[in-house]
Amino acid sequence: ELMQGPSGREENIFVSVRLRPLNEKEIVRNDVSEWECINDDTVIYRNNLTVSERSMYPTAYTFDRVFRSDCSTRQVYEEGAKEVALLVVSGINASIFAYGQTSSGKTYTMSGITDYTVADIYDYMEKHNERDFLLKFSAMEIYNESVRDLLSADNTPLRLLDDPERGTIVEKLTEATLKDWNHFKELLSVCETQRQIGETFLNEASSRSHQILRLTIESSAREFLRNDKSSSLSATVNFVDLAGSERASQSLSAGARLKEGCHINRSLLTLGTVIRKLSKGRNGHVPFRDSKLTRILQSSLGGNARTAIICTMSPARSHVEQSRNTLLFASCAK
Ligand code: ADP
Ligand code: MG
Repeated sequence: ELMQGPSGREENIFVSVRLRPLNEKEIVRNDVSEWECINDDTVIYRNNLTVSERSMYPTAYTFDRVFRSDCSTRQVYEEGAKEVALLVVSGINASIFAYGQTSSGKTYTMSGITDYTVADIYDYMEKHNERDFLLKFSAMEIYNESVRDLLSADNTPLRLLDDPERGTIVEKLTEATLKDWNHFKELLSVCETQRQIGETFLNEASSRSHQILRLTIESSAREFLRNDKSSSLSATVNFVDLAGSERASQSLSAGARLKEGCHINRSLLTLGTVIRKLSKGRNGHVPFRDSKLTRILQSSLGGNARTAIICTMSPARSHVEQSRNTLLFASCAK
């Protein structure tokens, strides 16, 4: 029942790390690549550490999978997300996260993974004409512990409600029934427009907000095949492009920035705590309710749900501290 990692171990949470290539800015300032994947599951820090640094930091980090900077997003999808994401067609909830500092490649990675998943779901639906399918799509952004619908021009913050049967519900969130692939792409561009409108008011909002794209598949056996209630299934998969992880560690100055920093701290830190608790087994209290992000995702994180986390990082020497923080988060999720 549990997902099999490439190592053959049973995993609740599949954790991978993706290195991106050095970017233009890094190359221009003669930055160098310090991290290297030595095989499929281990990334090492190559630079010579001083004796005191060596006692503070590990030089090798092992995960379910690591992706070198020349890996394609297709490969990251196939080996780091697909199995978890496609559980949705079997009625199992899932969440796929991109975690990392700003400009490490979260959006680049997550948008590719979302596209590949939707394409595979369409493929699956075509091949299974013994069932009727309904594919629904919604999109939201969490900024400052405030939830906004990315499919609606109305910027009023959405409330979270507790439903005894369905768990936490985002009130009035648009849920579009997808007609086809083109319709999906149209809705993605609506999201992008809504996100950018938000950004003109909120400086640099994309690095401070969490974006959740959500697909729900409902399916039932065709009439003539229907023999029992279990023939209908419903499940949700969430694609979560997290706020830049530097927000979780950076101490911000006074005023609004501080308030914002605290909120982002709260969502990212709560997510860290929740993931850590879930990865250690399900004993004890899991503080889902401590942030909007974890409340919204609760039914796709705990219980039978499956999770894949892709931690993205720059290989550059100048980002070593943030990269270590990212690897620490990734290690705690194991
Ligand atoms: P983030 O969402 O983490 O802030 P982005 O996904 O926007 O970062 O990536 C920052 C820039 O780096 C973008 O221009 C993106 O196209 C590029 N980039 C990120 N990852 C890769 C990669 N693996 N290969 C090539 N370019 C990448
Ligand atoms: Mg981004």
